[in-house]
Amino acid sequence: MTHQPPGSESTPPPARIERLPEQRALLIAWQDGRERRLNLVELRGQCRCARCVDEITGERILDLDGIDPEVSISAMQLVGNYALKITWTDGHDSGLYTWPHLRELCEA
Ligand SMILES: [Zn+2]
Repeated sequence: MTHQPPGSESTPPPARIERLPEQRALLIAWQDGRERRLNLVELRGQCRCARCVDEITGERILDLDGIDPEVSISAMQLVGNYALKITWTDGHDSGLYTWPHLRELCEA
């Protein structure tokens, strides 16, 4: 049995996650056929880790204008089948993107 945070059971993992370096995007394809390219800078700005979002107020600490427009993904890793961990070329590696979060970004 894998540990999952509450609410994540309803979002199955993406069928495919693909880096598109030339488009500066990450392609997420879901099992229900929905596909979306997420812009890397926007994705970086959506990080919800404690260094980017105030854990108590939920307020974003990260300065979106301060994100390197050239930022890219240096590594990706699945975490317990409920999230994707992205290591960014700007050195930021503490963010997890859960399936519901990614799904939300794909629906936006
Ligand atoms: Zn973060």
